[in-house]
Amino acid sequence: MATDILRLATPGVQGLSPYQPGKPIEELEREYGICGAIKLASNENPLGPNPRALAAARDALTGIHRYPDGNGFALKQTLAKKHGVKPDCITLGNGSSDILEFLARAFVLPDNEVIFSEHAFALYPIVTRAAGAKAVVTKAKGWGHDLSAMRRAVNVRTRLIFIANPNNPTGTWLKSDELEEFIRGLPAHVLVAVDAAYFEYAEEREYPDTIRWAEKYPNLVTTRTFSKAYGLAGLRIGYGISSPAVAEVLNRVRPPFNVNSVALAAAAAALEDTTHVERAVQNNRDGMRQLSKALTEMGLAYIPSAGNFICVDFRKPAEAVNEALMRQGVIVRPVANYGMPNHLRVTVGLPEENRRYIDALRKIMRD
Ligand SMILES: *Cc1c(COP(=O)(O)O)cnc(C)c1O
Repeated sequence: MATDILRLATPGVQGLSPYQPGKPIEELEREYGICGAIKLASNENPLGPNPRALAAARDALTGIHRYPDGNGFALKQTLAKKHGVKPDCITLGNGSSDILEFLARAFVLPDNEVIFSEHAFALYPIVTRAAGAKAVVTKAKGWGHDLSAMRRAVNVRTRLIFIANPNNPTGTWLKSDELEEFIRGLPAHVLVAVDAAYFEYAEEREYPDTIRWAEKYPNLVTTRTFSKAYGLAGLRIGYGISSPAVAEVLNRVRPPFNVNSVALAAAAAALEDTTHVERAVQNNRDGMRQLSKALTEMGLAYIPSAGNFICVDFRKPAEAVNEALMRQGVIVRPVANYGMPNHLRVTVGLPEENRRYIDALRKIMRD
């Protein structure tokens, strides 16, 4: 029965497997019969939500019998001011994932090609294949995007290129000069999406804010999210900034009311108060230092990361280490589905959470 239904799905969808999220704490505790587990698996903000956003969300609850503002007027005004763009350059999404999906849905035909890198974010193949298009996966260079290989992969059928900067799960990042040169060199029939979900964490001096390039490059879309440093992953809200022409097309495929009223209110409040993001970034800076020092002491290699997570290399399939971490109540993220079977990705947590991960790992490496 199930196989018959699957045969009814489009060929692209038949070739997909569902996105694998990090294991919820409750599920692990149930499976292993333990309590007090910690989750360092989904790159969430370990400080929790911004208190002001939480208050705004609570206030907004009294109005949930009404449809949300389908145009997100107030939030767009705030975002426009923050980024120095016009509101008509902004597309709001139910998470920034929404924007990536709109791009594929609005611009990509089955005989088009979509380019992204090996070890890049798992959503790119999903939205590409769901559109029935061909995914062109370029080889990574030092775990990161190889822009020369990506440029060489462009042909007349190419319609969209996904670039994660910094990339998840590897944490690798592209510098301003090389990325702008790449975008400048693209033919006019190719759109490029720069997915900057970890923008706030990337403090490297040459790391670009590609929103500033929106006016120069009409085929560029930058996506950002409230899910990561802003600590609102559960509310599902993100956005794209592009030329008004691209935003206008994206809005044609955007389902009405795709962003809920609670999320709109919380996001606007979170933007008005930058201290929470600053604290998250400071916690990340300290946690990165804490983790990388401990990993080096244990003789473990890792990929230097500009995000709030690190991929650790166990030099052999990492399943057993993952299992042993879970038994000690520490949830990290296996990345075998990203073509990285020897790595495990750990999200930078609070100092005591990082400590628990390190202690659990030390115990495992000793045994
Ligand atoms: C988490 C993440 C997203 C954002 O997802 P949302 O839909 O905004 O929650 C986008 N891109 C990458 C690379 C991510 O890791």
